Amino acid sequence: MRLGGLEAGGTKMVCLIGGEDGRIERRESFPTLTPAETMPALVDFFKRQGIQALGIGSFGPVALDSADPLYGYITSTPKLSWRNFNLRGTLADALGVPVGFDTDVNAAALAEVRLGAARGLAHCVYYTVGTGIGGGVIVNGRLLHGLLHPEAGHVLLRAHPDDPTPDGFCPSHKGCLEGLAKGPAIEKRWGKPARELPANHPAWALEAHYLAQACVDTILLLSPQRIVLGGGVMHQLHLFSMIHKEILRLLNGYVQHAAILEHIETYIVPPGLGDNAGGIGALMLAQAALEGLAP
Ligand code: ADP
Ligand code: ZN
Repeated sequence: MRLGGLEAGGTKMVCLIGGEDGRIERRESFPTLTPAETMPALVDFFKRQGIQALGIGSFGPVALDSADPLYGYITSTPKLSWRNFNLRGTLADALGVPVGFDTDVNAAALAEVRLGAARGLAHCVYYTVGTGIGGGVIVNGRLLHGLLHPEAGHVLLRAHPDDPTPDGFCPSHKGCLEGLAKGPAIEKRWGKPARELPANHPAWALEAHYLAQACVDTILLLSPQRIVLGGGVMHQLHLFSMIHKEILRLLNGYVQHAAILEHIETYIVPPGLGDNAGGIGALMLAQAALEGLAP
């Protein structure tokens, strides 16, 4: 089976050829410019590969209900040239193969639950902490869409009293998770790129505090069996033990389960598939589209 996977991001489009078993044969990246500039390159790449189906994990917000006239569109994104763009339809028409479509983080959650750090679990949440923050949710082994799809990056948090920029940097909300904790927010708050801040910099205690709040809210709301934290910022692996301690402090013994109270280091974890989770998830969406199934 030769499948295509597209991880459509705000800065780059990662195109994969491979299988739903996680095998990656080819990978190519294209910068996310305007649709007029970027789409022909994607079509050309996938056409040359002779794929049987394509899966897309996209930045959003996107329309995922197949009964919606805007199904497969990127909708209210702040990236203006992509607003109301028919991403799925454009590729389906050009390639003439079945095309699966979901959010980038739902694709990553699917890959992590099938092949990665949450393998074999029925309930899990995947967060990416990078240029933005997003969350994908698996409940009863299925991706959660609900009304639209979860927008876990924009949940509202309590600002830390020592935060010099407590409103954060989301154009839509004051004090949301993404505005407070995305990579560019760390850079704006401290005047230096996140990757250049040493492990003992106060930036990390603040970052761990906000990510722990998001995990606590997630635990209380969805009762997942594991939470996977991926994305560029989580390359700072020292954050994990800080987040673990902060979650235990914030929960204050309220959720009585050994997975949290005794083994939190295996409960809040990095992705098993590393930075490939979203792309491999897109290949799984392609397989589901080929079979006519909803993952
Ligand atoms: P994207 O979110 O654009 O798909 P990433 O998940 O790689 O891509 O996130 C990129 C952002 O993550 C960068 O803008 C930067 O803020 C942050 N970042 C990337 N690498 C690191 C690192 N090693 N340490 C801390 N922050 C990082
Ligand atoms: Zn927001």
